[in-house]
Amino acid sequence: MSNSIVPDLKSYEVWFLTGSQNLYGEETLRQVADQSQEIARSLGASSDIPVSVVWKPVLKDSESIKSMFLEANATDRVVGVIAWMHTFSPAKMWIRGLDALQKPLLHLHTQANVELPWSEIDFDFMNLNQAAHGDREFGYIQARMSVAHKTVVGHVSNPRVTQQIGTWSRAASGWAAVRSLKLARFGDNMRNVAVTEGDKTEAEIRFGLSVNTWGVNELVEAVDAASETRVDALVAEYEELYAVVPELRRGGERHESLRYGARIELGLRSFLEAGDFGAFTTTFEDLGGLRQLPGLAVQRLMADGYGFGAEGDWKTAVLVRAAKVMGAGLPGGASLMEDYTYDLQPGAELILGAHMLEVCPSLTTSKPSLEVHPLGIGGREDPVRLVFDTDPGNAVVVAMSDMRERFRLVANAVEVVPLPQPLPHLPVARAVWKPAPDFATSAAAWLTAGAAHHTVMSTALGVDAFSDFAEIANTELLVIDEKTTLREFAKEVRWNQAYYRLAQRM
Ligand code: MN
Repeated sequence: MSNSIVPDLKSYEVWFLTGSQNLYGEETLRQVADQSQEIARSLGASSDIPVSVVWKPVLKDSESIKSMFLEANATDRVVGVIAWMHTFSPAKMWIRGLDALQKPLLHLHTQANVELPWSEIDFDFMNLNQAAHGDREFGYIQARMSVAHKTVVGHVSNPRVTQQIGTWSRAASGWAAVRSLKLARFGDNMRNVAVTEGDKTEAEIRFGLSVNTWGVNELVEAVDAASETRVDALVAEYEELYAVVPELRRGGERHESLRYGARIELGLRSFLEAGDFGAFTTTFEDLGGLRQLPGLAVQRLMADGYGFGAEGDWKTAVLVRAAKVMGAGLPGGASLMEDYTYDLQPGAELILGAHMLEVCPSLTTSKPSLEVHPLGIGGREDPVRLVFDTDPGNAVVVAMSDMRERFRLVANAVEVVPLPQPLPHLPVARAVWKPAPDFATSAAAWLTAGAAHHTVMSTALGVDAFSDFAEIANTELLVIDEKTTLREFAKEVRWNQAYYRLAQRM
């Protein structure tokens, strides 16, 4: 039985809109319609693009443009719109529509043909194929109105084009998930921690999500209400999916700990399902009547697509949820991660990331080991947890800080590497990575930006997806990648202070 709350992205639509005008006459407009349908079909058939691409009739006047955008706004399954000006579509006609548009916009600068049929070109051909300047007119009005959008250039048969549209449509899907996200916090933040704090009202204004707190004993009631029959079934599922250590198995001396872990999962899941929550936080300083700090349960809920942040960190929980939706169907996964400790051998520096329990098993294709170990933090019974190594490969870590008048995202491109040596005594799931461009630059840039110690690690997505997400969300993003130098990065941080203060509404 699947409990996944990751949507099938094919159920989401991106509308393909083609701009023109009435002066061309019926024959040209019929060709515009035919050729734009062909382009929409081609995009829809591309395996790079996970959402459904829906062609809409050619737009020729201000009224129909505005109606189309209002309809896109009002249709939940629409996560974004793509616009292309095959002919010349005077852009004042687009002002009222763009002013009303609340969904992500991608401007596709393309044309129907790849090569020019040089020997056949007459003025009818020129009249029909004029995106080269028609799209410039559209670019002007987007720039003039400061409309957030992504620009993609090239023929749709070019894989770079479909990959860019695919990445943007993933970001748009993540944005749709964030806009409708309800997040439950069990208890508040870890006491005295600065970066996990944040303005929840501002987050609702900026991102549309809703963050609210419940007393942990409401969760305890749901945990205590889980039936023995359901606990039996879930324990059987654990034994099938994981390498359960003998002491936790049925008949083992610590089997009761596993049963209580299953009980936490059942209670937590029923609470989240009943409230239609897509993300949650816990805190070890407020466990109420819980006998264990939730470990296994949190790991499994993340694997089902829930966002999670530890120590009350709702901002990272939002990022985990967004990454789950953006990465839907791709190899790899997404998890709460924390930079824990370093190997500082010069030139070969590595970051060992982990958390006290809660790392999502979507980061591995191996069979996790289900174990129980003491945990001083929290001061409760020994919690059960899944232990595994994150698969090697390219990944990204992203953090969100509240800079008081805005939220700041910081993304670092990293390479997860195989463990240099086994970690037989580390009783938690982990990842070991090399950050780009190099350890010293990455860490100094991260610290300069005031980026958090909690991140989402995605092994399914790259920096590009988060860059598109930040653009759609109209949110600052600082990128640390192979091109980063500390000098330029520090300047960008300083300039951004001024830009984001000037750019925000009064
Ligand atoms: Mn932490």
